[in-house]
Amino acid sequence: MPLLLPLLLLCVVLPARAESPSTFDGFGVHASRRQNDLERRFLALPSSSAYRAHLERITRDPHPSGSPANAAVAEYLAETMAAAGLRVETYEYDAWMPDYRPRITVALVRPIRLPLNTQEYILPEDPYSAHPDLTGGWNAYSASGDVTAGVVYVNYGRREDFQQLRELGVSLQGRIAVARYGGNYRGFKARYAEDAGAVGVIIYSDPANYGYRGGPVYPEGKQWSESTVQRGSIKTLPYDGDPLTPFVAALAGDTSGVQRLDPDQVGLPRIPVTPLAYGSATEILSRMTGAAVPADWQGGLPFAYRLEGGEALTVRLQVEQPHQLVRIVDVCGSVEGSQWPGQEVILGSHYDAWTFGAVDPNGGTAMLLTLAQSLGKLARKHPPRRSITICHWDAEEYGIIGSTEFVEQHAERLQASTVAYINADMAVAGPNPSGSASPTL
Ligand SMILES: [Zn+2]
Repeated sequence: MPLLLPLLLLCVVLPARAESPSTFDGFGVHASRRQNDLERRFLALPSSSAYRAHLERITRDPHPSGSPANAAVAEYLAETMAAAGLRVETYEYDAWMPDYRPRITVALVRPIRLPLNTQEYILPEDPYSAHPDLTGGWNAYSASGDVTAGVVYVNYGRREDFQQLRELGVSLQGRIAVARYGGNYRGFKARYAEDAGAVGVIIYSDPANYGYRGGPVYPEGKQWSESTVQRGSIKTLPYDGDPLTPFVAALAGDTSGVQRLDPDQVGLPRIPVTPLAYGSATEILSRMTGAAVPADWQGGLPFAYRLEGGEALTVRLQVEQPHQLVRIVDVCGSVEGSQWPGQEVILGSHYDAWTFGAVDPNGGTAMLLTLAQSLGKLARKHPPRRSITICHWDAEEYGIIGSTEFVEQHAERLQASTVAYINADMAVAGPNPSGSASPTL
């Protein structure tokens, strides 16, 4: 738990000097001693076995936002924090969201009929890969659609890539764009392709960027295998959160009186879009026959990349991804401050995950629960002087929805009372501690 220590120290707001535990800047001798004593008691509380138990429990099933499995995670978060002695509150919103089980097929139609794999392989080393609820790759906020068309390779699908295609005289009109991941946010690949007249978009992970070019692939190494799919949202609206309620909380329930925009008018994608692994993308890219790509557009697959598929190559892309209002739930637990209860340190992480969420985001969720238990114990005898609140946000993966709606609902209170926010998405991941700050706050 490399990040636990700094987070704990930040929670009590005052950084300790490692070598001279008896003094703190701005503290007298007596206050320093008391602070040292508190920190020693606090640091003795969290256990790695508790962390492990939380992480295993939370990541047992795939739990995308809107799924019953995610609701079960929310319940566990609330129960665990309540049992730890925190005052738990939940905040519910109805957000315009994709169904978490879209149906997607990608197939070659010509020159041969060939359905392409859209899901990670089942590996004997990894029992999670055989979970019955594990879906294939998908992009949140893709439109539904069924298109059969020729293909154009658009490199990373950046603005300059589409500009270059125009200069080369390659039209996207009526074609399916094939873009590789990297270089920009995936939502812009889809948006620029749609603007250029494409009828569908396939975003694949090229081994030059994600796979064997970086070393052995999973499960032998950590690089992506030929079946690894990157899931992700393609929302490109000029605001975060619920697409239908910009800057206003999407409060739950029919009687909330919230004005919602027309989903057809807000600028969500209008063409089907899907991610694909490079094992499947190979079947398309290797059959393309047009002019060779510019040198820096060549990816890591073992053949020359082409700009166009040619007349003889057609691909069918079907995406059935209904959108509807979905109930989402933020779960917060607080310990009240003894001296300045109206001042609040908030810690948070989202808890919904594309699949199991072992790292993203629940490496952070498990840390926050472990922290909640330690705080609860310590606070029985030694309440913090400021209030401390731990929040678990829902529906981050589709577009930072749960936390945005919470902020929109409580903007005034947050501006008046919050002294610090520490975000802990993926707080425990990889071998090295790291952190970053937001200067605009
Ligand atoms: Zn995440």
